[in-house]
Amino acid sequence: MDSAKQKYAFLDRDGTFLWEPKQPENADPREITPLKSMDEFRFVDGAIQGIKTLVERGYKLVMVTNQPFLGTDTHPQAMFDQVMQKIDDEFAQHGMQFEFKMVCPHGPDEGCDCRKPQIGGLRDFLQTHEIDLEHSLMFGDRATDGECAKNLGVAFVKINTNDHFLVPEL
Ligand SMILES: [Mg+2]
Ligand SMILES: [Zn+2]
Repeated sequence: MDSAKQKYAFLDRDGTFLWEPKQPENADPREITPLKSMDEFRFVDGAIQGIKTLVERGYKLVMVTNQPFLGTDTHPQAMFDQVMQKIDDEFAQHGMQFEFKMVCPHGPDEGCDCRKPQIGGLRDFLQTHEIDLEHSLMFGDRATDGECAKNLGVAFVKINTNDHFLVPEL
């Protein structure tokens, strides 16, 4: 292994380490259901401990999240900003931080190249960091996260939505 290279844990947000509200029945399954208020904010069981374990094992953290229609009435920017701030605050209490956050704000049919499973939103990050892809991991709860992992060239760890965040023994 090239010791100059850094291994990363790429983390989907909603349903993977942050609890995600259940979608209304008529919703587009490609979309997400944003929190309605901060009262709904909670981490998935085991998430903080699990991510702490990753950090202790030498992984740095990158968030990779699709946030369709961010900034519209159905997905207000202010609520999103509060949620992200709270995540940062809670992580900081455990001495953790994200090195980078990839947030795609586009809709599923807008044709951007940053929406997972595409990796356009990570292009600059990938080009400016020495990444040990062989030992990096992507955690996610959707099939598109698995495809994203494939596109990144890293192993995928599937989390059941809102279920226990489990770190594999490697
Ligand atoms: Mg998710
Ligand atoms: Zn996008």
